[in-house]
Amino acid sequence: MGTATLDWYGCATFRLRTAEGLTVFLDAYLDRVPDAEQSGVGVDDVTEADWILVGHSHFDHVWGAERIARRTGARVVGSYESVRVLADAGVPEDQLLAVAGGERVALDATTSVRVLPSLHSCVWSSQPMPPADEVCLGELGLTFQDRGERMAALWAGFDAMGDDVKAHLAAARLGERGDGGALVFVVETSEGSLLFQDSIGCWSGVLAGESPDVAILAVAGRGNRDGEPVQGTTADFVAEQAAALGARTIVPCHHDDWLPGFSRPMDTAPIRDAVARESPGTTLVDLGYADGHAIFGRD
Ligand SMILES: [Zn+2]
Repeated sequence: MGTATLDWYGCATFRLRTAEGLTVFLDAYLDRVPDAEQSGVGVDDVTEADWILVGHSHFDHVWGAERIARRTGARVVGSYESVRVLADAGVPEDQLLAVAGGERVALDATTSVRVLPSLHSCVWSSQPMPPADEVCLGELGLTFQDRGERMAALWAGFDAMGDDVKAHLAAARLGERGDGGALVFVVETSEGSLLFQDSIGCWSGVLAGESPDVAILAVAGRGNRDGEPVQGTTADFVAEQAAALGARTIVPCHHDDWLPGFSRPMDTAPIRDAVARESPGTTLVDLGYADGHAIFGRD
């Protein structure tokens, strides 16, 4: 028997291989715009997948799941909206498990995943991609409609991007109903537990009840704590979540330059410093692309 490995493919997409040989994709966004650095693994390279866990329905998380599921027969766990768009994209219904938080799904005889309700980053904020040490304030108490109006600036920015990007977005955008409700997954394996969050937001009371060995946390975007934009820095918000979880290891995600012109490569040094201060028992482990990291520390 081997040991569990975790590969990162950029943005918030990972592949977990358990000691027993189960292959679990966490998100499925492998095919990126031509301008983005590539991880070396595209959708067409994936020949083996047992499960795909989709954190939310935005294209940079769900796109790719439809082709991987159709080709490999992998089953997909996701929100009702993710499942709807994947069914529309031709994934057979018997491969789709719609969840909302509160479920535990058996993945094989020794591995299961618990689903938790979560929140998407405040992508509607006037500062949708602040550097990790930038203090962001305000924009509290806005209605759903106010936030929708603020999203117009984001769409205008996307519309102003080059033809390559526009073609990519047109192909990748499977649904029109936003994030579809964000989920967090806690994969429980024979060697330890792994929490997976693919957008920087949380219900703090939900996270406080968790104690995974390893936590993948999104570290880009304006954070969302309990439905309101975080007042402060991304670094401090990530550290707050790390301390609440008490995980031995934090793996950052969503911090590479996955959509040049919108995203920015995030310097994780301020996050590392904040985590060291707020959660001294936690180590931040920055993965390179596809490097087969022994995630529970047993090489
Ligand atoms: Zn998103």
